Amino acid sequence: MNEYQYEAECHGCYSTKKVNHIPLCASCNNKLERDLVRQRNYEYSDLTAQLSSSEDKEKVRKDVINQYGEKLELVLK
Ligand SMILES: [Zn+2]
Repeated sequence: MNEYQYEAECHGCYSTKKVNHIPLCASCNNKLERDLVRQRNYEYSDLTAQLSSSEDKEKVRKDVINQYGEKLELVLK
């Protein structure tokens, strides 16, 4: 399933791009995934939803913060 089939205004960066159902472009969706992990919404993020142990989830969160910082990247209005 390709989520990014339709051109529309992305709700993250407000430019017209191929977006998913939210709608967010691929780049903003990646930010959203990382924000969900930062906020420990592990069951909602594709990065962590498949992981069963909480140590693994915390490890992904640590990696995200090490790589991208602690601040939320995408704030939906
Ligand atoms: Zn975007």
